[in-house]
Amino acid sequence: MQPDPLDVKFDMARKPIRQRWYLRPLTWAGSFPDVWARRLKIARHDVDGLKPPYLLLCTHMAFMDFKVTTAALFPYRANYVVAIDGFIGREWLLRNAGGICKRKFTNDLTVIKHIRQVIANGDVLALYPEARYSLIGTTSVLPGSLGKLVKMLGAPVAVLNIHGNYLNSPCWNLNKRKIPIAADFGRILTAEETAALPLSEINERIRTAFAYDEYRWQLENQIRIDYPDNAKGLHKVLYQCPNCLTEYLMDSDGNRLWCGHCKKEWVLSPLGQLNATQGETEFSHPPDWYEFQRREVRRQIEQGTYEVSDEVDVDSLPNAKGYINIGKGRLVHNLEGFSLEVATRRGPLSLKKTPASMYSCHIEYNYDARGDCIDLSTLQDTYYIYPLNLHNCVTKIALATEELYACHQQKKTSPDKG
Ligand SMILES: [Zn+2]
Repeated sequence: MQPDPLDVKFDMARKPIRQRWYLRPLTWAGSFPDVWARRLKIARHDVDGLKPPYLLLCTHMAFMDFKVTTAALFPYRANYVVAIDGFIGREWLLRNAGGICKRKFTNDLTVIKHIRQVIANGDVLALYPEARYSLIGTTSVLPGSLGKLVKMLGAPVAVLNIHGNYLNSPCWNLNKRKIPIAADFGRILTAEETAALPLSEINERIRTAFAYDEYRWQLENQIRIDYPDNAKGLHKVLYQCPNCLTEYLMDSDGNRLWCGHCKKEWVLSPLGQLNATQGETEFSHPPDWYEFQRREVRRQIEQGTYEVSDEVDVDSLPNAKGYINIGKGRLVHNLEGFSLEVATRRGPLSLKKTPASMYSCHIEYNYDARGDCIDLSTLQDTYYIYPLNLHNCVTKIALATEELYACHQQKKTSPDKG
C-alpha cells in the first residue's frame, strides 16, 4: 500500500555531500552570464589568504543572490543552506549541488550538524541568515544564535553584502528593472578571533558588516529607475496609512501609492523617494515608513490589543514533491503567539507557536499566483497559510512576530518586570 503523501517527510538527516565536480561548471554557466549582464562589481577587502573552509554570510533579497555568491567564490565550491520550498521538484539537483535543507525559523540541531560537516570537509558554507528576502530593502532581523554558531565552528567568517537585487526585483513586485549589482566581500573574523573574542563582539561585527539600506544606496549612487510600475505592489509592505492610520486599505499602481480610506496619495520618485501629492510628506524614505508601522504594532502589543484572526486555507509541504492542501481552518495571532486550527480529512490539526519560539516569520506575497500567505514550520512540516477574508495583513503579522519576540526578550533580561 502506498503511504499517505502527508506521511512522506523530507529526509533532513541525510548528510550533505560536497558539490559534485560535474555540477560546478554548470553552476558557473548558470551564474556568470547573469551577473555580467547586471555589471556585477565585487569590492574585496581583508581577503588576503582567505581560503576554504570558512563560513560565508550573505545578505538576501532575490534568487539572484545565489548567482552572485557563486561568482564571488569562484573557483571554490560551497554548500548552501536552502529552505525546503527551494527544493520543490529538484531535490536531486539541490542535494548534489551541496544544498542543505532547512525549514525556516525553526531551531534545527540537525542543520548545525550538517554545517559542521561542511567545514570539516574543507568547504565554504554559505548561509543567508536573514532566511528570507528583505521586505523593504533593509537588513532583516538576524538570529541571536548566529554568534554562537560562529564560535562553535571555529572557522573564519566572511560577509558578502550584495546591493542592487532588492531594487531590481523587490519581493512585492518581481518584474526586473535591470539594476547593476555591487557587492562587498570581506573577512570579518579570523579563526583565532572567533575563539578569542566575546560573543557580543562577534555579533557586533556581523551586524556592522550586514547593515544595508538599498534606498539609501540608490540615492547615494544616483541610480534612476524609470520602470513605469516601480511602486506597483509597494502597498503590500507599506500597509498602514501614516495620515489617517488606517490599516490594510493602502493600494498602489504605476509609481503611485494611496490610501483607500483618506485618499492621500504619494509618488515614488525615480531615485526611490516618496512625496505626498498634497500636504506633508510623512516619510520620504520608504524604510522609515516601514519602521513607523513597526512602532504602531509595538504600541498595540504593549496595550494588549494586538490580535489578527481569520479563516484560512492551508497547504502542507511535508517533502519536496509539492504542496498538499489539508483544508480550511482558523489562524489567530495575538500576545500568546500563533494558534492554527485546521479540520483536516485526518482529523483536527492544532499548531501553537509561542512568541519566544520565533524571532521572525516568513511571509509571501501573491504566492503561486494564489494570494499572500504566512508560513509556519515544525521540524517535520511547513504550513502555508492563506487568509481568506482579511486583505493585505501578512506584513503586519511578520512585524508583530518580531516585536512579540523582542518584548519577550526584554522581559527576560529585566528581572523587575518578571
Ligand atoms: Zn489614510
